[in-house]
Amino acid sequence: MFGLFKKNSYPTELPPLVLFNTESKALEVFSPLEPHTVKMYSCGPTVYDYVHVGNLRAYLFADTLKRVLEYNGYEVIHTMNFTDFGHLTSDADDGDDKMMKGLRREGMDVSLASMRLLSDRFIDSFYKDSEALNLLPPTQYTRASDFVKEQIALIKTLDEKGYLYKTGDGMYFDISKFPSYGRLGNIDLEGLRSGARVEVNTEKKHPADFAVWKNGELGWESPWGVGFPGWHIECSAMAFATLGKQIDIHTGGVDNIPTHHNGEIAQCESATGKQFSKYWMHNEHLSVDGEKIAKSTGNGIIMRDIAEKGFSGLELRYLLLQSHYRAKANFSFEALTGAKQAFTRLRTQLFVEWKDEKGKLHPTYHARFYEAINNDLNTPQAIALIWEIQKDDTLTPGDKKTTILEFDAVLGLGLTDDPSDIVESMGILSLDAIPEKIKAYIEEREVARIARNWTEADRLRSAVELAGYTLKDGPEGPQVLKK
Ligand code: AMP
Ligand code: ZN
Repeated sequence: MFGLFKKNSYPTELPPLVLFNTESKALEVFSPLEPHTVKMYSCGPTVYDYVHVGNLRAYLFADTLKRVLEYNGYEVIHTMNFTDFGHLTSDADDGDDKMMKGLRREGMDVSLASMRLLSDRFIDSFYKDSEALNLLPPTQYTRASDFVKEQIALIKTLDEKGYLYKTGDGMYFDISKFPSYGRLGNIDLEGLRSGARVEVNTEKKHPADFAVWKNGELGWESPWGVGFPGWHIECSAMAFATLGKQIDIHTGGVDNIPTHHNGEIAQCESATGKQFSKYWMHNEHLSVDGEKIAKSTGNGIIMRDIAEKGFSGLELRYLLLQSHYRAKANFSFEALTGAKQAFTRLRTQLFVEWKDEKGKLHPTYHARFYEAINNDLNTPQAIALIWEIQKDDTLTPGDKKTTILEFDAVLGLGLTDDPSDIVESMGILSLDAIPEKIKAYIEEREVARIARNWTEADRLRSAVELAGYTLKDGPEGPQVLKK
């Protein structure tokens, strides 16, 4: 099956879109359930804290996939959820609830209303991060707490069909009733059974059985008592409600494979008797300075850390796109500095040196670009192609510019926008030109930042802004621009 190419009509035959399906563990030629439309669901953030740079890699992967599908002429109907309750910190059904942890950290009372408030705050910050990274908004964002009715209905269906059993703390899915349980992989069912000695919940028939409903003091009324739907049921019910019973692509990070996505398949397919998602796609993990991102290591770099050090979301995007989504990747500020330099060089060339150049899309490079992105979203190759074009003296600057800008529909690097940062970087004030009052604010802010007193640092930044100046944190320290 070939893409439709309605947006970017192109005379010769183009390579088919090939994607890696976690379920078949193979590259497959993409062919959606309906000819022109793709229904896609992406597991979104648990909104109890800021998302870190690893999470952002997962959302950038979903964004790239969507852009590539659109570039191939498909209409993409995309849902991304916010888990705003009931996600336990361990993938098994024990441990602490992440939202409860968030409430305690913020000193908020434990109630549904507070959970809503807490998640409002982190959803808002997620929107800002997504905008900075130039992620296209999905067709719909769904909040788990807005779909409790649908989740209860799905659990009822499973119960009526005999897939569930009751324990002292909720309702569990019986994996022995779904023979292909675990077919997405990354789960050792026999190993789990033999390791069952540490099983916390002795009422479970198999250690991999999972909760679809957990009772507790807090939560919603249900036929099984007050409590919360399980994490996996959230995504299944929201996918059903917004996209239908069968979808084309489901995305997430590799850590979602063993329990969350194997669980989703079991629930959805038991309820409907049909295949749930035709393709399952997962991004590999990002580490920071060579270490796994973990709260305990304190290396969960967030967008604010990146901005504080003077980098933009687009520079982070450029860095992340240089690794293939299925390869393990590493983040470091050194690598981000290198990415910034290359990216600035590219933008300066496009908008300063080639400002008035006009030209045509180069057919060979365009075809090679298609080959790269249609080969399971090979963004590193697409970026390498930009530099090859930049160095190719057989092309006029106008043709180079037109061809590179065309690629931006998929790369989303903001290359077609007027790069205000380039204009900004030209307007940096010399030390002499900065008023004393502003210098004092900046010095105080540096003290606050060293003490990691972000509230005070933010207050001082606002004071600088109010006085009519903009502050940019660069590798050489803060820089001031007149607004
Ligand atoms: P969570 O909020 O923990 O459910 O994670 C949100 C998304 O980010 C999920 O799709 C995870 O699989 C993904 N994710 C978590 N950690 C990383 C990481 N270090 N690198 C890439 N993706 C990650
Ligand atoms: Zn999910």
